[in-house]
Formats: sequence, C-alpha cells, structure tokens
Amino acid sequence: MGNKTATVPTEALNSTSTVKKQAKRSNLTKALTTILKGELLREVDRVYTIAEEGLDFTPVRYRVNFNLKGGRAGLANHSKRELGFNIRMYYMNRTEYLYVIPHEIAHHIALAKYWTTQGHNDRWVAIDESLGGIGKARHRMVVPNREVYECVGCGALHMLTNHSHLSVQKHSSNVTCNCDHKIEHIGSSNAYAETRNNC
Ligand SMILES: [Zn+2]
Ligand SMILES: [Zn+2]
Repeated sequence: MGNKTATVPTEALNSTSTVKKQAKRSNLTKALTTILKGELLREVDRVYTIAEEGLDFTPVRYRVNFNLKGGRAGLANHSKRELGFNIRMYYMNRTEYLYVIPHEIAHHIALAKYWTTQGHNDRWVAIDESLGGIGKARHRMVVPNREVYECVGCGALHMLTNHSHLSVQKHSSNVTCNCDHKIEHIGSSNAYAETRNNC
C-alpha cells in the first residue's frame, strides 16, 4: 500500500516533465519549420523572378505547399497549380535541395511557354539551367529511412525505399545484386540516394 502511494506522484511528475519536454521540442520544431519554409518561399520568389524576366508574358505563379514526405523531393502539380516541396529533405540537404526549386518552376514555365508537359525533355532542361538548375530529372540527396541491403556475393550495399523493401520481403528469391547473388537486409539508415521528383 505504502509503495503504491509513493509511486503515483513520481509517475505524475515524470509524465508532466515529459509532456513539458515534448511541448518544448515541438515548439522548436515549429519554429525551425517556419524558418525553413520562409527560406524556401524566398527562393521560390527569387527563381520565379528570374523566370519572368526571360518571358514576354507573366504567368500566374503556382501556390506552394510543403506536403511532400520521404524520398519525394518536389512536385509540380499543374491541375492544382501547385508546387510541392519536402521540408525534411531540405533540412537534411540545405544546399543540394535548392536545385529542386528551379526544377519544379521549370515544369511550370515549360507548360506556360510551350503548352506541353513532357517531363524532362530538352526544353525543360534549357529552362531549368537558365534558372540555375542542374537539368537533371533526379537529385542525389540524403533521404530518410532507406532500408540497407548487403549482397552476400560481392558485399555491395543497396539502399532500398520502404516500398521496394516490402516487395523484397515478399518475393525475396527474385531480387538479386547486379552480380546475381542474393541481397540481405542489414538495417535501415539515412542514405544518399536518387530522389524521386514526381515531376
Ligand atoms: Zn553482388
Ligand atoms: Zn521533374
């Protein structure tokens, strides 16, 4: 009985301080997120300004959202007239991620200029490069939570997305290394990888 009464206040105290810590952390995260969003929005404005200077008309700018997660770097959604960005990926790749902005704006400008959305063709490359981009469909960046596999033959490491990881787990006999040996799951990690730009 004595133990019980002593335990209750301690647990209550612990949980109060945990809640306070979590609240503090989430305020910090919110503040950081606000700063990062502000940086990206200023960069979007800067790149759109360069784009507009090269045109003899001014397209209505797309809205910006920050809804992308995981390995998805950027998205130009023409039907919603929105550009999507990935705040966490930007946080993990403060320099490289900035190339995603001309990439996505170039999709909008390519459509506005040529009335066609043909992905990463020569016209898109020229526009992307004129906006300071690297003219590539994919960007190599640190992405969170890749599943790491090791080849049992040559020892090469393979970084798989969660999606591929699940399919390997289901049909493990079909997936091999380039050297034709089996690959084995050894853990998960942040990893350099080709990011997906859903255009
Ligand atoms: Zn191998
Ligand atoms: Zn693209």
